[in-house]
Amino acid sequence: MALRLVKPGAHRPAPERAVIDAAAGVAAGTAAEAAADAVVEPQDVDVDGRSQRAYIGLGANLGDPMAQLCNAVVAIGRLPGTCVAAVSSVYRSAPVGYLDQPDFLNAVAALDTRLSPQALLDALLAIEQDGGRTRAFRNAPRLIDLDLLLYGERVVDEEHLTVPHPRMSGRAFVLLPLAELDPACVVPGAGPLSTLAEGVSGQAIECIGPLVAD
Ligand code: ADP
Ligand code: MG
Repeated sequence: MALRLVKPGAHRPAPERAVIDAAAGVAAGTAAEAAADAVVEPQDVDVDGRSQRAYIGLGANLGDPMAQLCNAVVAIGRLPGTCVAAVSSVYRSAPVGYLDQPDFLNAVAALDTRLSPQALLDALLAIEQDGGRTRAFRNAPRLIDLDLLLYGERVVDEEHLTVPHPRMSGRAFVLLPLAELDPACVVPGAGPLSTLAEGVSGQAIECIGPLVAD
């Protein structure tokens, strides 16, 4: 299916409040609020001991991608010491690497979290697994993909965790939704988001509107 090219900032509908509220525990009682207040296991607390702004990239192209993105945002909002501050619009993007698969739906969520980067990644991988994620091969179609894009201004280079996410700077489906949430963002080691976005202006991507739960 041909995708219409949308330049950064060309279409920015408001994020769907209900999904953020659900993630924050407003619509669904106070379970998630309680989770945000819940004691973070000492080994999972970030070394700084204070809340950090992190950005998560979400993607899905199997099953019901919109529902899976919503479920993942709600699950992230239930992590201990974590609340979802904002969610971008949803973008439809062409697959990269392995082309014989459906288009993706992508979004970015902004979190405030006391979890360390490693504890946050582990939690994201567990949410992926709960959502039925399997890893058949690189760039395979997926029910849900959760990537830790940024963690404050932290640079992490460990065997199983690289932050900023190593491929985010070349991906329109990350940069455009991230620009909605933090247009002045500077990616450590890569530069201002506005400059990076110019480099992906040829990629096929379309903003389809807010993240909505059925
Ligand atoms: P991709 O998202 O690039 O398609 P996967 O989702 O299969 O790849 O992730 C493969 C591995 O990448 C994960 O098991 C994880 O350990 C590792 N990884 C390293 N850095 C990150 C990061 N910043 N966010 C998410 N996964 C990461
Ligand atoms: Mg991933």
